[in-house]
Amino acid sequence: MTEHITPVAGVAVDARHWIGGERVASAATFTDVSPIDGAVLGEIARGGQAEADAAVAAALAAFPAWAATPRTERARILHAVADGVDKRIEELAVVETHDNGALLRSHRRGVMPRVAHNFRFFADWLLNLEHEDFETRGHTNHVSWDPAGPCVLITPWNAPLMLATWKVAPALAAGNTVILKPAEWSPLTASLLADIAAEAGLPPGVLNVVQGYGAEAGSALVAHPDVRRISFTGSVPTAKTIAASAAANLVPASFELGGKSPLLVFADADIELATDLAVEQYDNAGQVCLAATRLLVEESVADEFTRRFVEKAARLTQGDPRDEATDIGPNIHPRQLEKIDGFVRRALAAGARAVMGGAPGEGQYYRPTLLADVAQDSEIVQEEVFGPVLTLQTFTTEEEAVRLANDTRFGLAATVATGDQERAGRVTAQLVAGTVWVNCFFVRDLQAPFGGSRHSGVGREGGTWSFDFYCDVKNTVTAPKGWAD
Ligand code: NAD
Repeated sequence: MTEHITPVAGVAVDARHWIGGERVASAATFTDVSPIDGAVLGEIARGGQAEADAAVAAALAAFPAWAATPRTERARILHAVADGVDKRIEELAVVETHDNGALLRSHRRGVMPRVAHNFRFFADWLLNLEHEDFETRGHTNHVSWDPAGPCVLITPWNAPLMLATWKVAPALAAGNTVILKPAEWSPLTASLLADIAAEAGLPPGVLNVVQGYGAEAGSALVAHPDVRRISFTGSVPTAKTIAASAAANLVPASFELGGKSPLLVFADADIELATDLAVEQYDNAGQVCLAATRLLVEESVADEFTRRFVEKAARLTQGDPRDEATDIGPNIHPRQLEKIDGFVRRALAAGARAVMGGAPGEGQYYRPTLLADVAQDSEIVQEEVFGPVLTLQTFTTEEEAVRLANDTRFGLAATVATGDQERAGRVTAQLVAGTVWVNCFFVRDLQAPFGGSRHSGVGREGGTWSFDFYCDVKNTVTAPKGWAD
C-alpha cells in the first residue's frame, strides 16, 4: 500500500485525483471521516485551481476522439463499466456506507445495482436516440445530437455514486468528456469509479475526478472557460453561486436542488398505506432531496393517522448502518447534526409540539422527529432540514390541501394518498412539483423526466431529457437532389 491508498474496510481506495488517465496528488489534503463512528478514513487530495485547470485540459484533449467514437463503441465501453460496477458491488457498497453512513443493505441491494443500471440504460438509450427526418418544401431536415465538450459534474453526499453516475453515464454516452467533483464529505466511491472506468477501457481524459472542497476545486471548475456544460446536484445557495459562474461563460447549466415536499393524506386514503408512506420519509436519516417532509393530513383522520404513524415509527431501529437490522443510520457530519438540531430547537421555541423525537440521540444520530402545531409560514415548514424531521399539519378541504402543499419556494416532488381517482386527477393537476406520486413513493424510471420546479431546480434529467442537455442539438437542412445543378 502506498501512502495514497486509503484502505476502507479492506478495500483499497486511491485518495488522489484522476486526471488524464493518471493518479495525481495535491500538496494539500483534507481528512475524510466516517459518520458511523468518527473514524478517520483517509487523507484525500485537496484540489484547487491547478487541478481544475489540468482536469479541464485533459478533458478538452480527450474530447475530439471520444466524440468521434462510434455510438456502438461508446455504448460497448459503458456496458463494460456497468459490468465492472456489478463485479465490485460489495466493495462499492461497503466503502459508500463507511463514507456517508447510509445503510449497507440498501447500498448492496438497491443503490449499487442501480449505479450499474445508470450506465446500461444511457448506453442503450443512446443507440435508440433518433429523430425522424422531415421535409420542408422538398428539403430534408435531419436532427442530430452532437457532443458538447467537457462537462463539469458536481454532486452531493447523500447518495454519492448514484447521483454522480446519473450524470456521468449520459454525459459520456453523448460523447462528452467529464470532470466529476464529488462532495468532500463522501469522496471515496468516485475514486473507485475512476478505476472501474479505466479497467473497462474508457480512454484517458474521458472521465476525470477532481477531489476537494466546493469553494476551491468546485468553484475553479465551474468558472473554467473551456467547460461546455455544468450539471449540479446540491443546495440552493451553492446553485446560485454556480449559476453566476455559468452565466459569465454562457454555459448551459442544470440544477437538481433541495425540496420541502408534501405528503397529502385524504380521509378516503388507505391509512395503512398512507402511514407506511409517511414512515418511509425517515429513510437515509431524512437526507433525501425528494423526502415528503410535510405531512398534510385531512383533519377527520389526523388522530388515527398520527397514532398509527407513531406506532410504526417507534419500531424503526436506529443504529450502525452496517447492521442488517438497522433502518436509520447516522447523519453525515457533526455540522449537519447541529443544523438539524438548530431547526428543531427553533421550531420548539416557536411553539411546535414534538409528537416524537425532538432531540439528538447518541453520537451522530438524530432521533426520528415529528413536529405538530407548526405554522405554515414558520421556518420548520418552509425550509429544508435534510434530517429525520417531519412536520404534521391538518386541512379540511381539498383546496386548502393544495394551497398548503404549494406554499413553499420549492417544487421537487409531492405524494398524494387518496382512494378517489377523480380527486387524484384534480389534485395532481394543481400541484407544483417535478414528480408527483399517487399512493406510492420513490418509484423512479430513468426514462422519466426528473427535476424540480421553482427553487428545486432548473432543467430535467432522464432519458431524452438528459441527451437534450448534454448535447448540442443540431438540425441539418439538405436541398433536394438536383437543386444545385
Ligand atoms: P452543497 O451545495 O453544499 O454541495 C454540493 C456539492 O457542491 C459538493 O460537491 C460541494 O463541494 C460543491 N460546492 C460547494 N460550493 C461550491 C461552489 N462554490 N462551486 C462549486 N461547487 C461547490 O450541498 P450538499 O449539502 O452536499 O447536498 C445537500 C443538498 O443537495 C440538499 O439541499 C439536497 O436537497 C440537495 N439534493 C438534491 C437532489 C436532487 O436531485 N434534486 C438530490 C440530492 C441532494
